[in-house]
Amino acid sequence: MLPKYKRVLLKLSGESLMGDKSFGMDSDVIAQYARDVKSITELGVQVAIVIGGGNIYRGMNEAETGIERAHGDYMGMLATVINGMALQAGLEKVGVYTRLQSAIKMEQIAEPYIRRRAIRHVEKGRVVIFGAGTGNPYFTTDTAGSLRAIEINADVILKGTRVDGIYTADPEKDPTATKYGTITFQECLSKNLRVMDMTAFTLCMENNLPIIVFDMNKEGNLRRVVTGEKVGTLVS
Ligand code: UDP
Repeated sequence: MLPKYKRVLLKLSGESLMGDKSFGMDSDVIAQYARDVKSITELGVQVAIVIGGGNIYRGMNEAETGIERAHGDYMGMLATVINGMALQAGLEKVGVYTRLQSAIKMEQIAEPYIRRRAIRHVEKGRVVIFGAGTGNPYFTTDTAGSLRAIEINADVILKGTRVDGIYTADPEKDPTATKYGTITFQECLSKNLRVMDMTAFTLCMENNLPIIVFDMNKEGNLRRVVTGEKVGTLVS
């Protein structure tokens, strides 16, 4: 089967790693993600991954934590490295070669982020996991995903979530809500649909990087997406 995309950036939220747990990560979820990623590398798709940290720490909530925003954000970035290491272990268990690159230097466990090196890794069939977000506070890992996707010339950003696409309204609150198969960036803006935070969304829009929002927790969906099946919602 021929993949529709040659190089993809997969954005996974930290929270999706929790599975049914309320904190941390679920080894079954990691194992499933690893199998899914492996299945697309076998099609020859070049894969880079940005993973969030919300299952461990979110820096934004200064009022709740009593920790200054920027300081907490750095803690959040470290959380993404922990998730990245977990995912790396899961991928290597199923025989996928990986490299972890961190936007904050921590040489004992990760390469520093070097754009050209990351591109070289994916060209060689290694899955590159980008940890520590953008390396800057006041950003999110969605923004890191958009930024890295553009930097490495990915064809698309695949936003794996727990919902299966973008809806006209919140499907949990409004039973009449319907899912979009495709939608334009402009429509998302005019209808006020939140696909990603504004910084991340704008980066994609200004650089013509399509986004596919899909349910990553359903095994096999990732492969369906990269082979062009109508799964999730395509924003372009
Ligand atoms: N973060 C940051 N800069 C970045 C990426 C992440 O400061 O470039 C921090 C921020 O505090 C964020 C936390 O890391 O709340 C975890 O990332 P995020 O909330 O994006 O994870 P997700 O929601 O995808 O699990």
